[in-house]
Amino acid sequence: MKTNLKQLSKQDLFLFMERAGQKQFRTNQIISWIYKKLAVSFDEMTDLSMAFREELYNIAVISNLTLLRRQVSKDGTQKFLFELEDGQTIESVLIPNSKGEGRFTQCISSQAGCAVGCKFCMTGRLGLKRNLRAYEIVDQVIFVRRFISRQRTNGTSSAIDTFIKESPGTSHSEDKTDITNIVFMGMGEPLNNLHEVGRALSILTDLMGFSRRGITVSTSGIVPGIRKLAEIKPLVNLAVSLNATTDDTRNRIMPINKKYPLKELIRACRDFPLPPRRRITFEYVLLDGINDSPDDARRLVKLLAGIKSKLNLIPYNSLDNTEDLKPPLESNVFAFQKILQKAGMTAMIRKSMGADISAACGQLKAAYKSS
Ligand code: SF4
Repeated sequence: MKTNLKQLSKQDLFLFMERAGQKQFRTNQIISWIYKKLAVSFDEMTDLSMAFREELYNIAVISNLTLLRRQVSKDGTQKFLFELEDGQTIESVLIPNSKGEGRFTQCISSQAGCAVGCKFCMTGRLGLKRNLRAYEIVDQVIFVRRFISRQRTNGTSSAIDTFIKESPGTSHSEDKTDITNIVFMGMGEPLNNLHEVGRALSILTDLMGFSRRGITVSTSGIVPGIRKLAEIKPLVNLAVSLNATTDDTRNRIMPINKKYPLKELIRACRDFPLPPRRRITFEYVLLDGINDSPDDARRLVKLLAGIKSKLNLIPYNSLDNTEDLKPPLESNVFAFQKILQKAGMTAMIRKSMGADISAACGQLKAAYKSS
C-alpha cells in the first residue's frame, strides 16, 4: 500500500525517505513542495529528477480534497464543501479579518458529522459519520491556501478581483492575503478524535509553519480530552463551548454535560497549563429565556472566577427553529455583557459569521473572526 505523505509528521517523513534510500535534502525538497509550494502531484515537483519522481509514484501518494461547492456570504465569509475519498462530506469556513489586512481565520472540521448533539448545532443533528484522518484535516488548510494563492497569482485577472470583492478587508496591493489562524470549530468534536487532531497539529506547526498561538482547539467539554490536550506539544489555545451556568440548563442544550458535568469541566479548565499572556476562551451562545438572565450572568462570574479567560457572547441566530430555541432580546444581551464587564471580565459580543450561507458549526465560529 502506498503511503500518503500528508499523513506523516516531520519526523516520520524523514524516516520514510531514509528507508527509501533518500538523503535529507530530498526530504526537505518534498516538504517545501507539499507545504510551501502546495503541490498536489509529484509532476509539479520539477526540480526532482524524473527517476526520483517515478520512484515516489511507486511508494507514495499526495492526497487532495474534492471541492463540491463554495459559497460566499455577504459579510465575506466563505464556506467550502469538500468530498472525501469515501464520499463523506465536510465543511471548512474562511473568515476575513475585520482589520482589513487580507488575513483570514480558517475554521476546520475534525470529524464528518458529530456525536455530541448540541441542540443549537446543525452538525449535531447529523450524528457521527466518522473521524477524519490527520491528512484530511490538514488538506482543508492546504486546499484553501492553494485556492487563495492561485487566485493571487492569477494576477490582475478577474479571479483575484472577485476574491477581493468577496472578502472585505482584503487589499491586493499589500499582497498579504493568507490564512493566519486556524480554529478547530468546524464539524465534529476535536477532542473525540484527539489522536488524529494531535498529528494534524504537529503537521500544521512543524511542516506548515503555523504558530501554536494561532491555533485554537474548541471543545464542547470532553474533560479527559482537555487533560490530554494539555500534554500535547506544542500547546495550542483552548476554547470551551460553555453556554450554561447550571447542570440542569447545560444538560438540556448540551447532553455531553451529563457525562462531564460543569464542576469537572471547570476543574479541568483550572488545571489547563496556560503559558504567560494566554487565556482560555469561553463561548456562550445566548438563548432567549434559557441562559440569558442576569442571574445566569452573575453565576458565570462566580463559575469562572480565578481562571484567566475571555468570553465570547454569541446571540443565537438560527435559520430554523426546530429545537424551539430563540434568539435573545438585544437588551438582554447588553445587560448580560454589562454584568460580566462590571465584574472585571473580558466579554465581547460576537455576531454569527456567514449566517446567510449556514456557515456555522452551531453558532460558534463567530468568536473567531480575528479582530
Ligand atoms: S457544536 Fe460542535 S460539538 Fe456540538 S454538536 Fe455541533 S459539531 Fe458537535
